[in-house]
Amino acid sequence: MPPRRRDPDAFCAFCGRSGREAPRLIASPTIGVHICADCIKVCERMLNGDRAEAGKPRRAVKAPPIPKLTVPKPAELKAYLDQFVVGQEQVKKVLSVAVHNHYKRLQHQRTADSRPPDSVEIDKSNILMIGPTGSGKTLLARVLARRLEVPFSISDATTLTEAGYVGDDVENILLRLVQAADYDIERAQVGIVYVDEIDKIGRKTDNVSITRDVSGEGVQQALLKILEGTVANVPPHGGRKHPQQEFLPVDTSNILFICGGAFVGLDKIVRRRLGRRVLGFASAADANGNEAAALDDAEILSRTEPEDLIHYGLIPEFVGRLPVVAALRDLSEQDLVRILTEPRSAIVKQYQEMFRMEGVELSFTEGALRALAAQARKKGTGARGLRSLIESLMVNIMFDVPSREDVATCTVTEGVVAGEVPPVLTYRPSAARVSA
Ligand code: ADP
Repeated sequence: MPPRRRDPDAFCAFCGRSGREAPRLIASPTIGVHICADCIKVCERMLNGDRAEAGKPRRAVKAPPIPKLTVPKPAELKAYLDQFVVGQEQVKKVLSVAVHNHYKRLQHQRTADSRPPDSVEIDKSNILMIGPTGSGKTLLARVLARRLEVPFSISDATTLTEAGYVGDDVENILLRLVQAADYDIERAQVGIVYVDEIDKIGRKTDNVSITRDVSGEGVQQALLKILEGTVANVPPHGGRKHPQQEFLPVDTSNILFICGGAFVGLDKIVRRRLGRRVLGFASAADANGNEAAALDDAEILSRTEPEDLIHYGLIPEFVGRLPVVAALRDLSEQDLVRILTEPRSAIVKQYQEMFRMEGVELSFTEGALRALAAQARKKGTGARGLRSLIESLMVNIMFDVPSREDVATCTVTEGVVAGEVPPVLTYRPSAARVSA
């Protein structure tokens, strides 16, 4: 019997609402607690979701619909990447092939309606990018998603925690993708997710800790589920899940996950495996800007085997879900100079455009570009430091130049970068010149 009328003090032990607020309270026959009809419905939905997540009736669960996509050839993808990403040639090739295969597989599935249930199912190949900070990992993933015109989102693995701890649930990764797809779940289900800092969720040691591992293994387990393909219940407004919430079911089996991390120290693990000497080699060489040593590191990292990643702290199942491994190179000074000037929307081009709007032709000498690249390299943040450097350099110039009608050209030299001299200005002959 519902206790609603008889017990006005009863409340739902799940949502906390009283018998007056909740639609109907049902009492436990054994202990003095109640549950309301709303919470029962939510539990039912969760159980249904869990059944799908448990993967038992995977084939029975309807395959997610796949929107039609045009899949560029690997060479086309690589050519597109070339417009935006400097260097990293091998990585661009590996990614182009992997991404092409992924979407080709999806389009094949889309058209093969009448596939027999026992036909060969090609596994998804998620990608792991290993490379120093600011070397272009996020950029590569973003540019690929743009070329394929699929939704793209970036998440940081370090903000993730196992369910029950304070932090982001892994479902929030998917929420970001759903938001990037303007809540079009069908499109989100073929999107690309970039998970940054994946190296930070490794077990710190090979020893098994007796305390609970909040940031490491549990997070890998949670991520593993969505990487391998599941129907995840995504809270549409983010935050932590609670039973009162409606969920968006998102099938992750066709989402391409690209994980990235710096994996500091992994080179030593690989070297050790390969039987080479490691002592102090890479770090000392990097500090001196010795490019040969940095190249060696990238070569070493490109030989990474699953066992090295496991040794680093990733769990074997997780490594198994990242079969494509690409190692990025530390960017050399020459690469940084090219990044300043060559990509389609290179920083220098952007500034030149801004000056052009003021009628001023802006140029940088070779020396100035090299000095900027050298400063950025010293910071050790790859190409990431370039923008802030050039921005602080340009602030004074931008402050002065537009207010002067007569400036025709503005040249930034090495001395300007060093903060020793002002930029070289030339003036339009016709204008009455106000001397500086
Ligand atoms: P990370 O490897 O840390 O993910 P990002 O891809 O976020 O590095 O790079 C930061 C910024 O630096 C990018 O937005 C881009 O402007 C620039 N950048 C980094 N690497 C490259 C590259 N290889 N070519 C062109 N620009 C790059």
